[in-house]
Amino acid sequence: MRLSQLKPGEKAVVTKILGHGAFRKRVMEMGFVRGREVTMVLNAPLQDPIKYKLMDYEVSLRRSEAELIEVEPYEQWILHKNRAAHPETASHDPASSDNAEEFEPKDRIINVALIGNPNCGKTSLFNIVSGAHEHVGNYAGVTVGAKAGTVKYKGYRFNIVDLPGTYSLSAYSPEELYVMRYLNQEMPDVIVNVVVASNLERNLYLTTELIDMNRSMVIDLNMYDELERSKAVLDYENLGKLLGVPVVPTKASTGWGVDRLLDTIIDVYEMKHNDVRHIHVKMRPELEKGITRVKDIIKNDHSVPARFSPRYLAIKMLEGDPEADALLSRSDSYKEIRDARDAEVQRIERDLKEDVPAAISADKYGFIQGALAETMQGNVLEEQKTTRIIDALVTSKLFGFPIFLCVMFLMFWATFQLGSYPMEWIESLVSWISGLIGKHMADGPLKDLLLDGIIGGVGGVIVFLPNILILYFFISMMEDTGYMARVAFIMDKVMHKMGLHGKSFIPLVMGFGCNVPAIMSTRIIESRSSRLITILINPFVSCSARIPIYVLLVGAFFPHQGALVFFCLYLLGIIVAVLTARLMRRFWFKADETPFVMELPPYRIPTVKAIARGMWSKAHQYLNKMGGIILVASIIIWALSYFPRYEMQQVPESYVTNTIAEMPAELRQEKTPEQLDALVLNAYQQEYSILGHIGKFMEPVVEPMEYGWRTTVALLAGAAAKEVVVSTMGVLYVGEDDADLISERLTSPSPITGQPPFTPAKALSFMVFVLLYVPCIATLAAIARETESWKYAAFSLTYNTLLAWILAFITFRIAILF
Ligand code: GDP
Ligand code: MG
Repeated sequence: MRLSQLKPGEKAVVTKILGHGAFRKRVMEMGFVRGREVTMVLNAPLQDPIKYKLMDYEVSLRRSEAELIEVEPYEQWILHKNRAAHPETASHDPASSDNAEEFEPKDRIINVALIGNPNCGKTSLFNIVSGAHEHVGNYAGVTVGAKAGTVKYKGYRFNIVDLPGTYSLSAYSPEELYVMRYLNQEMPDVIVNVVVASNLERNLYLTTELIDMNRSMVIDLNMYDELERSKAVLDYENLGKLLGVPVVPTKASTGWGVDRLLDTIIDVYEMKHNDVRHIHVKMRPELEKGITRVKDIIKNDHSVPARFSPRYLAIKMLEGDPEADALLSRSDSYKEIRDARDAEVQRIERDLKEDVPAAISADKYGFIQGALAETMQGNVLEEQKTTRIIDALVTSKLFGFPIFLCVMFLMFWATFQLGSYPMEWIESLVSWISGLIGKHMADGPLKDLLLDGIIGGVGGVIVFLPNILILYFFISMMEDTGYMARVAFIMDKVMHKMGLHGKSFIPLVMGFGCNVPAIMSTRIIESRSSRLITILINPFVSCSARIPIYVLLVGAFFPHQGALVFFCLYLLGIIVAVLTARLMRRFWFKADETPFVMELPPYRIPTVKAIARGMWSKAHQYLNKMGGIILVASIIIWALSYFPRYEMQQVPESYVTNTIAEMPAELRQEKTPEQLDALVLNAYQQEYSILGHIGKFMEPVVEPMEYGWRTTVALLAGAAAKEVVVSTMGVLYVGEDDADLISERLTSPSPITGQPPFTPAKALSFMVFVLLYVPCIATLAAIARETESWKYAAFSLTYNTLLAWILAFITFRIAILF
């Protein structure tokens, strides 16, 4: 809780002072130090300022200042102190396990924010510290939004937030704005500024802005291994002294140096580190004069929130930053600040013949070069010779495309061919289990639920785990090595033909894994219209949840042309995406010409640990989905098809005679009357179950493709998650023998009509339908969230489903000709 929330007479203990350095210093000099008791005395009539009693004297603070002082109610503080002194009693407290943070002393919680350029290893660091499995990748813009994790170390709890990468703190791209707002609203106790040695000059630019902010900070010199391998030598301790910010080298991909980083964070938090001091990134006198004039007005206006230092705000005002402007617009002297700013900008531009942002950044780079000249010898860039050689090949006009196509082909080949072996093992395990249950369990609804509902549904989908893992292995490799960034680069021209640019290609490739993170990753695209188009065409990229359907149907109906059919399906998805993009650019969004800026990071060999971690987290997600939405959907589908129950007497005579009359003669003769009865009852049961009614109601919609009501139901259920299509078919197409695989149930002739339920033409058309129709619920939600409007999700739902219907119809009509 904050000091401003105390009521008259209440007593509390100071746990933290937030805000910029100069503010912290001033309040600490007033006596607000950690562990000190403070009592609220009186609210002034207008509630500002507020009077407090501190030790034996009274002080008054403005509400805006009291808001930046964190306190803990006195009783709670004492409780925490006792608990910390006698940890053995605390461990028996049942509450401590489920809400540990509530019961920890507040001054032992350190809130840490990771800030740095894209691709400097923030997420790797976050993962290794917090044990999380966030997505890392060797290209800009992998982390979108903030991820929070927590870890206990040396009696402290670190709450760590992984922020998106930024080059500076202006309001240019969505990420920068996000980080700016984060720093404004949340007040992290310590900022960890992650920088990489291979490009210190550019990385330190952000550092200079953070220094202007005057917050508690540690610099993490990551990828120290690259520095060691190069011929360059950096005296990082001295650099830390020069900047007034401790520098700690780490190798986030292996975890080397992380403990030292945490130790340093504690030291900085406890204000025990010797290197910490506030420096000014000095600029030319012409600039400094302007900064000082604006800064002085801000400093003397106490209505300005103490979240940012006046110098930082002054610099941002001179740069014309809209966020800083918005922040100051509520203060008393806003008009005065603006007038001073306008006058100074005019003067500086007249004196320097240069615009202010350019002059400021030139001076900051000058500062950085100076600092590096003193501390660094040699150049890391020599290291990157290998990168240049590989790039000459993979981004060349001649080989770039063929190499990319080979990689893609290898990826799909491995997914479907290599994946089929472990798939068979899991398949036989599943049928072994269902055989066991079939033999040893007494007949009844429970057995039916287990066999037809759960194993039929979930078992039918779980076998595709290996395929999905292999696909993710390839995607992670492409991301982590840095190849993905090259792909974006070589695809730029092609993407321009669609009215997009290279950056849009990465979300499309990621879509092969799952459309949800792919849609989130479109945040790297600055232009709004390009971003919207990339989002809307993403569902046409066939995600891994659709693999089970293809593997099932292709395996059953096109065992010999498997690879070709897969390839054509994926290709169809891409063609539809391309055409849709072109149409949208033509008729919906105007052309835009954002120039293509995408950096090519040096190639890096991904660690086994990082890849394994990525794959495990995918497997985990997949299994979670099995246990969650797919299990629930399977049980619901089963129940809807199982109830209401019918007895033979309830089946109308006409139904019995019609069904038997429809049967081919030779089938009829094979069966005993009891067997015939059982078949008829089973057919009636399914057809007149709740699900049968629903399916029949919707069936006319897909009548032209002759899908039948069971497949109609599977399509409806697939809107929840595409895997559910297969699990629904597993539940609905019950074979004669419970241990039969779904594929056998689909291909073998039905005991009633003598025809198999699926034909190759139907299967093909069905796959096209599933490829294109409504995105799953999670994807629709992602579209709505990322576009900030349900309109686009609704568009996606209708457009995709209509298109799916039309193309599936055409496919079916053409296929039955053969
Ligand atoms: P972020 O964009 O800042 O979150 O960066 P990521 O955590 O996604 O990492 C970018 C790339 O750098 C990944 O390929 C990581 O495997 C790699 N990486 C991270 N830390 C290190 C390190 O200390 N040494 C080396 N050689 N590579 C690293
Ligand atoms: Mg990241």
